[in-house]
Amino acid sequence: PSGSEPATKIVINLERLQQLPADKVGPLARYAAAIQSQRGDYNGKVLSIRAEDLRSLAIIYDMSPGELTDQLIEWGVLPPEARPGNPVG
Ligand code: C2E
Ligand code: C2E
Ligand code: C2E
Repeated sequence: PSGSEPATKIVINLERLQQLPADKVGPLARYAAAIQSQRGDYNGKVLSIRAEDLRSLAIIYDMSPGELTDQLIEWGVLPPEARPGNPVG
C-alpha cells in the first residue's frame, strides 16, 4: 500500500502549518520557508508549490508521494480536495 494518488495541485495552508509541532512538520516548514524566500512571497496565507517538490518532500519523509498527500490532508495542511479523484476537487 502506497497511499492514495499524490496531490496534483499543492496549495499549503501556511497558518495551519505554523500551528503544528515542529517535530512533525519541521522539514516541510523549512522547505516552505525556503520557497517563500526564493520567491520573495511572504504575505500569503497559502503557498502553491510544484508537484516536483511533493516528490522531494516524500523522499525526506520516507513516504510515497501518495502517502505524504494523505498525511498532509490529515494534518490539515492540504485541503481534502487536493486528493485527485475527490469529486470536490
Ligand atoms: P526559476 O525556476 O528559474 O524560475 C524563474 C521564474 O519563473 C520564477 O521566479 C517565476 O516567476 C517563474 N516560474 C517558474 N515556474 C513557474 C510556475 O510553475 N508558475 C509560475 N506562476 N511561475 C513560474 P520566482 O517566483 O521569483 O522564483 C525564483 C526562483 O526560486 C525559481 O527560479 C526557483 O529556483 C525558486 N523557486 C520558486 N518557487 C519554487 C518552488 O515552488 N519550488 C522550487 N523547487 N523552487 C522554487
Ligand atoms: P487560485 O490559484 O485559486 O489562487 C487563489 C488565491 O490563493 C490567490 O489569489 C492568492 O491570494 C492565493 N495563493 C495561491 N497560491 C499562492 C502562493 O503561492 N502565494 C501567495 N502569496 N498566495 C497564493 P490571487 O493572487 O488573486 O489569484 C487569483 C487567481 O489568479 C488564482 O486562483 C489563479 O487562478 C490566478 N493566478 C494567480 N497567480 C497565478 C500564477 O502564478 N499562475 C497561474 N496559472 N494562475 C495564477
Ligand atoms: P501554475 O503557475 O498555475 O503552473 C501550473 C503548471 O504549469 C506548473 O505546475 C508547471 O507544470 C507548469 N509551469 C508553469 N510555469 C512554468 C515555467 O515557467 N516553467 C516550467 N517548466 N513549467 C511551468 P507545478 O510545477 O506543479 O507548479 C504548481 C504551482 O506552484 C504553479 O501553478 C505556481 O502557482 C506555483 N509555482 C511553481 N513554481 C513556481 C515559481 O518558481 N514561482 C512562483 N511564483 N510560483 C511557482
